[in-house]
Amino acid sequence: MPEESIIKEEDRFHEAKGEPFDSAVCPGCGCLCEDIDLTLENNRVVQAFHACSWGLSKFHLGHRFLREPKHAKLVFPARKEPTGGPLPVSYEEGYEQAAAFLLQANRVVFFGLCQMTFDAQLLAISLIKHFNATVYPSEGMLLTPFFKALKQHPAGIATQEEIRQLATTIVFWGANPLHSCPRLSPRYAVFAAGINAPERHIARKAFYTDPYENDTGFFALRIPITPENEVDRAKELTEIIEEGSFSVPKELDALVKAIESSPFVALFVGRGIAYSATPDALMEALFALRNAINQKKPCVLLPVISDFNAMGFYLALIQSGIDPAESPQVCADLLAYQPKKGDTLICIGSDPFWFFSDAQREAIQSLYIPVVSISSLQNQTTHAADLVLPVALTGVEAEGLAYRMDGVPIFLRQVIPTAQPTDFTVLKAIQERILTEPSHG
Ligand code: SF4
Repeated sequence: MPEESIIKEEDRFHEAKGEPFDSAVCPGCGCLCEDIDLTLENNRVVQAFHACSWGLSKFHLGHRFLREPKHAKLVFPARKEPTGGPLPVSYEEGYEQAAAFLLQANRVVFFGLCQMTFDAQLLAISLIKHFNATVYPSEGMLLTPFFKALKQHPAGIATQEEIRQLATTIVFWGANPLHSCPRLSPRYAVFAAGINAPERHIARKAFYTDPYENDTGFFALRIPITPENEVDRAKELTEIIEEGSFSVPKELDALVKAIESSPFVALFVGRGIAYSATPDALMEALFALRNAINQKKPCVLLPVISDFNAMGFYLALIQSGIDPAESPQVCADLLAYQPKKGDTLICIGSDPFWFFSDAQREAIQSLYIPVVSISSLQNQTTHAADLVLPVALTGVEAEGLAYRMDGVPIFLRQVIPTAQPTDFTVLKAIQERILTEPSHG
């Protein structure tokens, strides 16, 4: 392509008037796409290229699951009045109140922590250790079983770029990539021609497991499972691969043939494993399947992660000396949380009230359990919280380090300015107040 036409193509990226901001990193999901070209005007993003609709929402300071981007930023710190309405407070007052809630607690319970920078995660973990707190990471239902299995079966992870180049058979197990990481399929896993593709034609074979047909079926073949037979199905597949069996059930036939003829296989596992009766056993069975395929050809298993720095949180736990595979402090499913009088809940970058059962919500209210929400965006938790501390949205209003779903570190840049503090600054200010308390020094 002549050079002038390349320059013309690039110019087209900034049709809106304003300042170009190229190669921004999207904090929308665990793909952390680093190819987002933006145009800025009056400290706002007015145009974005390459982002999916989730990413677009983030750059417009909104929730990622909305069809149309909608501004949802929290504006000021607030505590709940006795009448239930929000009463604006200063950040200083908010830090004091948050420290007081923590210091008076018999038990501190953290929720979320998967959509913040790595530095802030390390700081949050130092508070978890200080209070011997319990934590329900927002991706706990996927990553707690994942790290348990990884400890028993180390290795077998590849980067997304390696998968794009090498994998020719892709299996989504308990994962709908269109809804959890929208650009995973087009950019890496399915609609890209790798070096193993004949003449670089896109020729991947894709499969997904699900009790029902879903939109992954547009490009992948369904392997029917039920929550009851899922573990057995994974084990059955492992046995067939190990033994090179000629007796293959009809519904596994295409998948077995694809695995056998593929030079490189990638298994993507998603949150759907939580619907299994035994998620830990299922993850273990999927790692065993990966090992069986790996005896014959390279096979990798990666979690499909929606919250952009969930992998960072688990790496921060390990770096801080907490083994997520063993520690009773690290829980998986927040529906297992049983509210107790004397609890204080700290929700960071997440919306646990969206997921809580009615019984959990009622118990939190009737037991007068204080809820602190440290969040960029309004959500059900910020509406329910006794104290709300707004923070800058990482990757848009603040910079910081995060880890992609394959464990690759990516530095997110600040795109637009904000007067709001980062989640790190807020946690630091709360920690300082806790450490200066005579009985907690
Ligand atoms: S796939 Fe994820 S990281 Fe990439 S643009 Fe969409 S939301 Fe952002």
